[in-house]
Amino acid sequence: MPNHPPPPALDCARVIEYVVISESVEFSGHTLLFVDSKEIGRVPCLAICEEAETLGFLLFHCDDEWIVLGCSSHDSIEEAKGRAEKIYPGLSACWVNPGVTREQAEKYLDERFGEQRCSFCGKRADKIEHFVHRNSARICNFCIDEFHEMIHKPKANA
Ligand SMILES: [Zn+2]
Repeated sequence: MPNHPPPPALDCARVIEYVVISESVEFSGHTLLFVDSKEIGRVPCLAICEEAETLGFLLFHCDDEWIVLGCSSHDSIEEAKGRAEKIYPGLSACWVNPGVTREQAEKYLDERFGEQRCSFCGKRADKIEHFVHRNSARICNFCIDEFHEMIHKPKANA
């Protein structure tokens, strides 16, 4: 059992609702979530998080430290809860809304990733795919693509 609620964001997605699964809740036996071709089994915690980029929702299966073990994506919170209910029948009444605002989630991620930003566009580590480092500067994959295009674009009046 976790002894603390989840942080404002899990894997960079804002926590909308979470549930700590008590031992009295049944487990259907199947999560249909596979990691390295092994099915994730019963977990102590679930969280529904908002994916800012796609405006979709993620159902995270977590260990008792709120480390994400696997996830499924859904179009709505209801759909995510429906999936959780199929896996853990009777769970639907147990969801907790921690009331995390977008600002709080952003602030948390800023504190966590604040140092790790692109030196050119300022994007945070969680918003990019990778950085290239040179001395104290780092550049993100988006800037690399942009600069590459800029340099190689045929000049209009050439
Ligand atoms: Zn950048």
